[in-house]
Amino acid sequence: MTDLHRLSIRELSEGLAGAKFSSRELTEHYLKRIAKLDTQVKSYVTVTAEQALAQADAADAAIKAGTATALTGVPIAHKDIFCTQGIKTTAGSKMLDNFISPYDATVVAKGRAAGLVTLGKVNMDEFAMGSTSENSFYGATANPWNLGHVPGGSSGGSAAAVSADLAPFATGTDTGGSIRQPASFCGLTGLKPSYGRVSRFGMIAYASSLDQGGPMARSAEDCAYLMNVMAGHDAKDSTSVEKDVDDYVANLNGTAVKGLRIGIPKQYFNVAGLDADVKARVEESLKKLEEMGATLVEIDLNMTEAYVPTYYLIAPAEASSNLSRYDGVRYGYRAENPVDLMDLYKRSRSEGFGAEVQRRILIGTYALSAGYYDAYYVKAQKVRRLIQQDFLKAFESVDVIAAPAAPTTAYKIGANLSPVEMYLGDIYTIAVNLAGLPAINAPVGFDKDNLPVGLQLIGNYWSESQLLSVVHQYQQATDWHTKRAAIAEENA
Ligand code: GLN
Repeated sequence: MTDLHRLSIRELSEGLAGAKFSSRELTEHYLKRIAKLDTQVKSYVTVTAEQALAQADAADAAIKAGTATALTGVPIAHKDIFCTQGIKTTAGSKMLDNFISPYDATVVAKGRAAGLVTLGKVNMDEFAMGSTSENSFYGATANPWNLGHVPGGSSGGSAAAVSADLAPFATGTDTGGSIRQPASFCGLTGLKPSYGRVSRFGMIAYASSLDQGGPMARSAEDCAYLMNVMAGHDAKDSTSVEKDVDDYVANLNGTAVKGLRIGIPKQYFNVAGLDADVKARVEESLKKLEEMGATLVEIDLNMTEAYVPTYYLIAPAEASSNLSRYDGVRYGYRAENPVDLMDLYKRSRSEGFGAEVQRRILIGTYALSAGYYDAYYVKAQKVRRLIQQDFLKAFESVDVIAAPAAPTTAYKIGANLSPVEMYLGDIYTIAVNLAGLPAINAPVGFDKDNLPVGLQLIGNYWSESQLLSVVHQYQQATDWHTKRAAIAEENA
């Protein structure tokens, strides 16, 4: 078969179970595509071909022996922030260019236990700080819809790999939009789960009170399959919740769109910098949902202006603390010939971290320092609570909240926006992390340059099934999610 990369996860699952093709054939097929196309897309930092083929053979044996799960033999790409035993885990940083983890992240271990085949590790902004994937030590990844544009970030490698059909689905992480924004820029479906739903064990920390892993795929159905593997309590992560997980696949039709109350925040659609095409496509998608029986309700989210300043204090503060572990002594990059210990610390960190990471460490250290702590960090925590309350109040009258995933479509590679311009692009995604809520991106059309536009739906706590279900039904009634990126189309 030549079109294995066109099959959905359900089709792959059924095809493998029915012996229409083997996991080895499927894995070889993807490895061939990666070899042929990833020189242009540059989504993979590490391709683990040999290990993937061994895992594929084991999967084929399990399928024959009748011990397979729904996903046994299906390939996946992992964001290079998830620790993989024996395979380099870089977090996109020179600091970790030589880091080989002695253990698997829980998400990776669960994937292996479910029989997933790891194709490799994919690119990202350094330590997940960024919105373009250009902040990677390994260079920029290209957007498969237009190779001159970025795939978004920080999970840009995950998005580009799936969108170019170089992996059927991928893991991502979202601290302030890093699943939803690249999904939006690459025409994919991506789910950021409620804080605590997916284990953070072995996921390299950026801002621990905001970080959350989730699936990135071509459809809500594909995401549901991966959520079934990723979600659940983990004793190794004290912030993961002891709460039963749903069967996300079985629940795909579990929420009625008819009668669903969708909140439309007034403030969101008046943001300066909201692109006219993005606004139009999002409004058209909401109209479609209305035709399907949903009710659109105008709501107020009065804290909108506080989102960017609040996030850009709390996230760097936590990052400055988390990244203090990279000292050139324990593991990671070490400067050569230090004259003394202070010189070793200073040069290891100056040489090992890129510019954006250093900027955030400086901002965070400043905000946490004696004398400024109350004025910045404590204040930001108080505002964070008000942002959360704003959402909870809205959920008293609506079921989900609609927003663009980003104010624009994918930027050009090298656009070189100022840090503040870049940060303002996160306006629609970061409040969700500050509040710990789940949210999903779904592709809803294109701008005048044929770059994808995404609709974001934000749900109340633990409503992952509801979000997947609403998007699944939207995808049954529309075909935006079936459109293929240019490079995938040319190499069908
Ligand atoms: N773009 C945001 C930032 O740079 C979000 C990143 C993320 O979610 N990891 O912090």
